[in-house]
Amino acid sequence: MISLRDISFRHDRGPRAATALHAISFDVPQGGFRWLLGPSGAGKSTLLRLLGLSARASEGEMTLLGVLTTRARRPALTRLRRRIGVVHQDFALLPDLSVGDNVALPLRLQDRPEDEIADAVAAMLGWVGLAGRERDAPARLSGGEQQRVAVARAVIHQPELLLADEPTNALQEDQGRRLMELFNELNAMGTTVVVATHNESLVQRYPGRALWLDGGRLVHDG
Ligand code: ADP
Ligand code: ADP
Repeated sequence: MISLRDISFRHDRGPRAATALHAISFDVPQGGFRWLLGPSGAGKSTLLRLLGLSARASEGEMTLLGVLTTRARRPALTRLRRRIGVVHQDFALLPDLSVGDNVALPLRLQDRPEDEIADAVAAMLGWVGLAGRERDAPARLSGGEQQRVAVARAVIHQPELLLADEPTNALQEDQGRRLMELFNELNAMGTTVVVATHNESLVQRYPGRALWLDGGRLVHDG
């Protein structure tokens, strides 16, 4: 599912040019769950950007969903990106689109028929506990509700891999637990899930295998 071999990443633009990841190697089997842990600046966001194909490794080999991404060309990476869902820490909802149109985005990119999209959006909003909120503006929702809209949008196209970067940062504790229940459900249905966090109480409540980064190195996998 995910296989990294000696992956390094260097931020080589700007005054802060630095090696953010050093020779990272690990595997996550299909349907696996991984916490991505480590102090601030450890490289968690950078690693998630590589896994989400929004950055390219400087060195090493990465295979995602059967594709050797470090050698793949742009069209193959674009197709592969559609099989991955990403939840950002700041939700990244588009403020000028309704809740329903935000959730519909991945299916509109696939040119699915509108009646099918409407059904899927209604089903997803029901699943995250926001049934009937299609027409609301994102700004009218609470932080926890916005984050659940972001999750609905990240998974409506049934991605095989779900990546989340500090998804509970802006949430109260009960909302963070609610989010983890959704991630657990997806994982139980076979979605591979990687969640970066430094929310220790969340990790204690939902024990799982972890990748620990420190100073851009993988210091523990277990
Ligand atoms: P969990 O979802 O409980 O974290 P894992 O992601 O560790 O489970 O593993 C999912 C399945 O893959 C399990 O059956 C486990 O035994 C198997 N597995 C885990 N790591 C490896 C590995 N490095 N190589 C082969 N199989 C593995
Ligand atoms: P984490 O998510 O674990 O806090 P990051 O992946 O954000 O860590 O950062 C890893 C390292 O890369 C840090 O030293 C950080 O300062 C550096 N870094 C992150 N983004 C950039 C950037 N755009 N340009 C230069 N350096 C960066």
